[in-house]
Amino acid sequence: MLKINLRHFENDELQIAGELPVADLDLELNDELLRVEEPLEYDLMIERMEDALLVTGSLRLNLHCECVRCLKAFKTEVDLPDWTLHLPLAGEDAVSIKNDSLDLTPYVREDILLEFPQHPLCKPDCGGLKKKKAVQPVKSGGNNETKPSAWAELNKLKL
Ligand SMILES: [Zn+2]
Repeated sequence: MLKINLRHFENDELQIAGELPVADLDLELNDELLRVEEPLEYDLMIERMEDALLVTGSLRLNLHCECVRCLKAFKTEVDLPDWTLHLPLAGEDAVSIKNDSLDLTPYVREDILLEFPQHPLCKPDCGGLKKKKAVQPVKSGGNNETKPSAWAELNKLKL
């Protein structure tokens, strides 16, 4: 777990860097196209303010993907170079601190998940499997592309 201990602060600052194991990150991915096999790297600075902790730094994770179009396996880096987290220590939204320590894992998990690709592509213009190109599923409403030309043909006939 990515725990910070409030007693370890020096001059109201704490710098931590390391790796969060896959098992601790526990992402529970339901997507078969995405797999996490390597630990998440973090490099964080935590500052203690009057009623809050301010976490800034970077999170990095290698994600193993399968391209939705051509099914090729590839790796992509999920990167949060300017991650910022504000943790109130007082008030309604105060974070829970046990034994002077606070687990950052849930926050890391939530924010890194948001960066995962919804539809992983090996490259932005992946053409997919050549065989399938002609019958590539078209999103609903996306059929319009073929209609104008069909109408154009009809209009020619009318003239
Ligand atoms: Zn691809």
